[in-house]
Amino acid sequence: MNVDNKISEYYDKLLKRNAGEPEFHQAVSEVLDSLKIVLGKDPHYADYGLVERLCEPERQLIFRVPWIDDNGQVQVNRGFRVQFNSALGPYKGGLRFHPSVNLGIIKFLGFEQIFKNSLTGLPIGGGKGGSDFDPKGKSELEIMRFCQSFMTELHRHIGEYRDVPAGDIGVGGREIGFLFGQYRRLANQHESGVLTGKGLTWGGSLVRTEATGYGTVYLTAEMMRTHGEALSGAKVIVSGSGNVAIYAAAKAQEHGATVVAMSDSSGYILTPEGVDVDLLKDIKENRRERINSYAQEAGVKFVEGGNIWEVEADVALPCATQNELDGESAQLLKNNGVRYVAEGANMPCTPDAVHVFREAGIAFAPGKAANAGGVATSALEMQQNASRDSWSFAYTDERLKQIMTRIFVNVSTTAAEYDREGDYVAGANIAGFKKVADAMLAQGVI
Ligand code: GLU
Repeated sequence: MNVDNKISEYYDKLLKRNAGEPEFHQAVSEVLDSLKIVLGKDPHYADYGLVERLCEPERQLIFRVPWIDDNGQVQVNRGFRVQFNSALGPYKGGLRFHPSVNLGIIKFLGFEQIFKNSLTGLPIGGGKGGSDFDPKGKSELEIMRFCQSFMTELHRHIGEYRDVPAGDIGVGGREIGFLFGQYRRLANQHESGVLTGKGLTWGGSLVRTEATGYGTVYLTAEMMRTHGEALSGAKVIVSGSGNVAIYAAAKAQEHGATVVAMSDSSGYILTPEGVDVDLLKDIKENRRERINSYAQEAGVKFVEGGNIWEVEADVALPCATQNELDGESAQLLKNNGVRYVAEGANMPCTPDAVHVFREAGIAFAPGKAANAGGVATSALEMQQNASRDSWSFAYTDERLKQIMTRIFVNVSTTAAEYDREGDYVAGANIAGFKKVADAMLAQGVI
């Protein structure tokens, strides 16, 4: 059977065994497409059921998370941790608290994480977790009680050498604090390497907060440089206004770009003169308000329910959530002159959108490469924890910059090696895959 048929047959089987998980199907399908290219050249990567094993998580945990709200009512949420692949190191990946979370979403995120973590060049496997708990509108005490209940189950499954969770959507420094406190209490040890994204006085790393957004911009700058352009003077759209978006906007403007629009799920703000990052940080991080407050206080236009991708720009950085940018929006970007797209979020561009970028010759950096700076800096936090050290901001930032540059070089050389010059999706999938696959083949059928 030829490679294409083999992969299609395998994908059909996967659809049946994982019914009702469209995001997982989407993530796998994109990787399998790239694997056709590898298997054509190096058929040994299909040996020993390697592809089938790669798409099946090593372990999936689903658990009840009961907690008591401020009215004394019992609430029940569902907790997940998908420990996908530990061939390169302990499972590593964030926790997402959002009402849309289900097993399929966590599996897509965990699957992507394997390749992303591989691309960082650091010894970390892939995993992801979370809950359908909605932090929006909850009091601090409710969030604390939820985190404590969540960790009461999760604590037996994680550890410095086993599985090291971190943040994602809905899980930031505050939640990591509550989770770590409960872990420390239950385990009766201060095991700093069990979680990343910790506070700076108890084992956290400088630059971790900024890392995903900064990393996306470092990689974008490198991608633009190889195309003979620079961020300086460019107009940039940054979707979202969470942790990734804020620091992507900050770093893009440090490079001399103007961030012309940002958003949240209620709409977008138009900022033709650039974003006041300090004001945005205060509104989102301290006051936890909506982006509309920014528009009111800064005196800029807020487009309620609008599509941010209709704004004219040179560069687009989708930093909100999966499938936020579809084929039609990609068409708008193309018509408005966007030449570079880098994913700060996980899988924000639909396959249709990626198709439009490819046809239009728009340089597109997938999340596995472009947003790997967050987890890479988590791995640097683990290094500091293991050596009981804490590095300076400048040193850690320099390491992050080097990692992002190396990722881009690796991704683009791999694409060229496989006759896909400029196809950074294929480059990222193939380079990420080969490292994990080599480790899995070396370690036998397990
Ligand atoms: N949630 C982030 C990601 O998608 C970071 C994970 C981590 O630091 O472990 O990569």
